[in-house]
Amino acid sequence: MTEKTIKNKYYYKRVDFFRLLYKIKLWPSRRGVLHGIKSIVERGQYAEVTTFCNKKFIVKNSRHSRAARWLRNKWVMDACKICKIPSWKVEKYSSTVFTQYYGSHLQNL
Ligand SMILES: [Zn+2]
Repeated sequence: MTEKTIKNKYYYKRVDFFRLLYKIKLWPSRRGVLHGIKSIVERGQYAEVTTFCNKKFIVKNSRHSRAARWLRNKWVMDACKICKIPSWKVEKYSSTVFTQYYGSHLQNL
């Protein structure tokens, strides 16, 4: 996937959390570091997320979770050095806007 032009993307604020993770492939850690997601394995309401720096954890599909809120509000300070997130991906994420009343629901992913 290559994208030369960065334009604002609008996502509906109440978008399904897992769909959002699949789309942006980024994970905010509790310490405010952004990691790149290598894989997501869904198991019902839970998913096993593996980052490029080989951290593995189980997340619950909740838009109200800490990670969901952090992603929407962009409360991240740093990008993980080991994950080596490409800059276009970070830029794309930075230009993403979460809106309350319109935007993509990411349902066809
Ligand atoms: Zn990482």
